[in-house]
Amino acid sequence: MTTLRTARCPQCGKTFEWAPASPFRPFCSPRCKDIDFGAWATERYRIPAVEKDDADDTQKPERE
Ligand SMILES: [Zn+2]
Repeated sequence: MTTLRTARCPQCGKTFEWAPASPFRPFCSPRCKDIDFGAWATERYRIPAVEKDDADDTQKPERE
């Protein structure tokens, strides 16, 4: 049974085939990947990281 997996490009909203070998994931094309990276570098970079306290701690198997 072959299931075609698809994903939606977060950049342009286009649905594309989510191939295991796709080098542009999660984007549909190198262009979208490029655009997103540019946005990340300029805009998102300024968004301060949100520190999580213990919200995810229950999911972490590693414990040292
Ligand atoms: Zn795209």
